[in-house]
Parts: sequence; C-alpha cells; structure tokens
Amino acid sequence: MKSLSAPVRRRHEDRPTPLRRSDIPSAGPARRVPGTGSVLGAILDHGPVARSTVARLTGLSPASVSGHVGQLLARGLVRESAETAGPKGLGRPHIPVEIDTGRFLVAGAHIAVAHSTVSLMDLRGRIVAEERQPHRTTEPRRILNGLAARLPRLVAAHAGGRTVLALGLATGHRVDPVTGVIVEHPQLGWRDVPARDILAAATGLPVHVDSHSRALARAEQLFGEESTRSSTVLLFVGAVVDAAFATEGAMHRGPRSGAGSVAHLPLGAGGTGGAEPCSCGRSGCLQSEVSERAMVRRAAAQGLFVGSFPELLDQALAGDARAVALFRRRARLVGRAAALLLDMFDPEVLVVVEPGAGRIPECLADLRAEVAERSWVCEDPERAVVPTSFTGSVLATAGGAVALGALYVDPLGPWPALPAVS
Ligand SMILES: [Zn+2]
Repeated sequence: MKSLSAPVRRRHEDRPTPLRRSDIPSAGPARRVPGTGSVLGAILDHGPVARSTVARLTGLSPASVSGHVGQLLARGLVRESAETAGPKGLGRPHIPVEIDTGRFLVAGAHIAVAHSTVSLMDLRGRIVAEERQPHRTTEPRRILNGLAARLPRLVAAHAGGRTVLALGLATGHRVDPVTGVIVEHPQLGWRDVPARDILAAATGLPVHVDSHSRALARAEQLFGEESTRSSTVLLFVGAVVDAAFATEGAMHRGPRSGAGSVAHLPLGAGGTGGAEPCSCGRSGCLQSEVSERAMVRRAAAQGLFVGSFPELLDQALAGDARAVALFRRRARLVGRAAALLLDMFDPEVLVVVEPGAGRIPECLADLRAEVAERSWVCEDPERAVVPTSFTGSVLATAGGAVALGALYVDPLGPWPALPAVS
C-alpha cells in the first residue's frame, strides 16, 4: 500500500494511471504525518511525555519538535505537565507535555435509522456527555436542525466552560467527507443531503462529516486498539450494516464514497424462518439477516416479543436463552462476513462493532470460530478479530471522532476557536 501514502502530485493528475487519484482521501495519515499532527499524536499516545521522547517517537529533530510543541502550546491543545522528568533546573525541554483536556471539546452527532445521538468529547477522545432522541421525522433538514438545536443545552450542562472547537457528524451508508454530503442512506430515504452546510449554518461551528464506520476506524487508530494503525477493517453491525478499510497511510473511501457497502453481501444463510426479504429484493443478504430490525422480527417469529432491539439485547444480557441464541446466530453470520473481509484485505486486525460480540463472551467466541472455519488467510482469530474499544458508547464516539480525527490531522489548520498560528 506504499503508493497510497505517496504525496499527491497534482501535475500528474491528468495522466492515465492505474491508481485513481480521487481514491486518495483528503484526510491524511493516522500518525506518520511528519509535522505538528504527528507530534500531537505522539503526545496523545504517550503524554505526559518529554519533548526528547517525542523526537525519538516521530523521527523529527529535537529542534523541530520544540517548534511544533510551541505552536501546540500556543493553540492551547497541549499543556506542560505538573510532573517533571529528569533533574530539575535543566530548562523547558525536560518538562513533559500532555494533551490539554481543560480548554476545548469537540461535539459529535450520529444519525441512526430510528434515533440520533449528540455528544461532547474531550481532546483525548473521552465522552463527556451524550444524549439520544428518537426521530420524530426522517426529513433531512428537520433532523439536522434538530441535532443543532440540542447542542447548546448539552454544552451548557456539561462543557464546564470548555469551548467547542467543531462538530463531527457520522451516519451509515455512503457519506462524502470532502463535500460534506450524505450521498445515500437508503433506510432514511436520503440522497445527496448537504449535511455539512446545513449543520454549519445552524451551529456556526466548523463541521466535519464522514461515515460511521470510517469514523470508528479512525477512533480506534487514535485512542482505541493500537494494532489497527497499520491496517484495519471495521465491520459495523447495527440497524445499518457497513464496513471501512484503513491503512496507516489512508482511509479508503472510493470515488463514489461507496467503499465498505457490504449490506447486500450474500450470506447463503439458509433456513431464513422469520426473516423478511431484503430491501434489494433478494434474501439472505448480510443486512437483512443480521440488522437490528431483522433480529427483532426473528425474535417475534420465535415467540419472543420485544418492543425494540435494545430490549432484545437486555434480555440476552440477562441470560434469556432464546435471546442469547439469536445473538449467537448473528455472531456466526457476522463471522462469515468477517472471514470474507479478512481474506479480501488481510488487515492486521478486524474490528467488529456489534453489541453481542462486545458484551456476550459466547458471541465473540462463535464469531471467531466461524472466522477460523472459513477464512483462508486468518490463522489467529483471537488476535485478528477484536470487538470495538467503544462498546456502550459507539454512536457518541463516532460523531466526535469525525471532528477529532480532523483536528489530529491538521491541528494548525483553520480552527476558528483557536488562537491563530503563524
Ligand atoms: Zn439485499
């Protein structure tokens, strides 16, 4: 994947080339940006950390690191730690630096099929507050303006005087982070919704938009599972089922923002009692077999009547045998998709975002067993298949991670709430 992380040379843009330039995402690498972003990333990982250690970690010269740290201090993104490293009296380079969580936050918003979540996140990726509300409409402008209207209350109650730098929006299906447009969300019936512009106008904040799968892959790389940094596939299983593929140098999006559209992956599950045909007209698609809606329908077909998916999950967590069996079946089917994705991309690690795998040990074991049975390249599912680091706060994390991901790529960029830097 070396070619993907090569610098973009615009003058070659019109020359025919096997690599589509439009495939190269505008958001930069997860860590190894030689500059302020990589210094901020190293401080996130290791802070409180001495500048000399940051130099070693990033491969930058000590003088260069001092310069970058100086700019980050000036912007209020890092602070000098109260701790000291090494003997006193040797000057500033020995005072460790850490991420300053006391001055700024990012806001997040996630739009699910039936509800939406707004959240606040500190600069280390910790959720400060989150609030979920069911949709009263699926009309795009009303949902987006509704999200914007909920933020001031959340900020007033939980920000503790900290300033919100930006808002990140995440949702399922096809989202274009460059234009800020939700290209297609079939379950909401949305097409080409200019979400960034609507939210920016409604909040006055800089707004960043991305797919929830890419956002969660980015969140893992920033402050979750470290092994995701070299390469990762993230498989999201909720009301929507989709995926993301990231390497150290790039988050693959595709020219149509369609990478990871695995909803209609044919599973050949067989015995689909209780399942309805997929929205695509076929049956046995990944999404129509394992989505939240499919789970609730299947439960009802078996005489287990629940009002919602969270209720079904609660029953499984409480040990209801029928509910647990439904989640174990889901885990097996998700394992089939995971095996295919592992063979297709051979990532260092595949992250599964699915509450059964995250919270019920048998489900994770079943999923890994299915991978062991079916994958040709994955020899160690225990290591290569992991649940998300954000079980329980996935949706709150996704929105915030879109904004925080942008900050960590370009901390010296135009962030209106931050002091200007030269
Ligand atoms: Zn389908």
